[in-house]
Amino acid sequence: MIRVGLTGGIGAGKSTVAKTLVAQGAHHIDADRIAREVVEPGTPGLAALVDAFGPEILDSHGALNRPALAARAFADEEGVKKLNAITHPLIGARTQELTAAAPADAVILHDVPLLVEGNMAPFYDAVIVVHADAESRLHRLVSLRGMDDADARKRIEAQASDAQRRAVADIWLDNSGTPEELAEQALQVWNDRVLPLRENHSRGVAAPLPTAVVDADPAWAVIGTRVVNRLWALLGAGAKRIEHVGPTAEPGTPAPPVIDVAVIVADDAAADEAARLLYAGGFPVIDAEGGVTPARTHGAADPGRPVRIHLRVED
Ligand code: ADP
Repeated sequence: MIRVGLTGGIGAGKSTVAKTLVAQGAHHIDADRIAREVVEPGTPGLAALVDAFGPEILDSHGALNRPALAARAFADEEGVKKLNAITHPLIGARTQELTAAAPADAVILHDVPLLVEGNMAPFYDAVIVVHADAESRLHRLVSLRGMDDADARKRIEAQASDAQRRAVADIWLDNSGTPEELAEQALQVWNDRVLPLRENHSRGVAAPLPTAVVDADPAWAVIGTRVVNRLWALLGAGAKRIEHVGPTAEPGTPAPPVIDVAVIVADDAAADEAARLLYAGGFPVIDAEGGVTPARTHGAADPGRPVRIHLRVED
């Protein structure tokens, strides 16, 4: 199973991408839908909200009146905390349940509008960001979805910035053209990236690394941070230090575009456990080529993520 996160600003075009990938066989898990389901009438979620915020948050049919809840929950920080403490665990549990129910070879497409805001990017095998500039999003929301102009502006402003989304994007889809062009890009991502990633992951092999030297790219530092964050999410307290190292970590030096990362662990047992987690998380050992690859070197199953992980026991 591999997990792909899909995000983008409101009105960016996530639905088009989700539809295209689902038609190819992706297993869609929709965070917005789950968020609604866990507070439907008759759920423990809705009962907990009523306990916390009062029966005034219900409409005359006993369903959640969202504006009424928002007026109470967003009034102060305490309210937001209370709301999140009720809904987040329920959403998390339901997401887990749906993920666990998917077939072992599934590609889970987790559609999460607030993935960046929730710092969730490191928990996916790959993150797809759909991008359209704020003006186009506003225009589409108002003219096509019939949203109120001021409301649409407010929601766009409250969300993450393009730069924040760019920083976590393993795959960036530009939706400044037609919906058909976006669908075409999504299909290409599925064929050239997602399917090879799943194939390599299930076979436990790393994608080949580029060897040709290229000019230094400022994006290397950004990718380095992304990989380091992903590895922290996978290894947690099992690692003592995780650092972007090597030529791509040195500003200005031409090199093959391979992100070298050092993972330092306490002892041999921790290294064995880290190796197991790396393998399970899509970072299999790089096969020794003529015996020249040192032990405990991992690559990535993802053909679009050229990394070399040097797993070391602290001196
Ligand atoms: P999201 O799911 O990211 O919030 P949608 O996929 O629903 O956004 O797109 C928002 C609106 O813009 C929809 O009405 C959709 O049909 C329309 N739309 C999406 N992409 C384009 C595009 N490239 N050109 C014109 N309209 C688009």
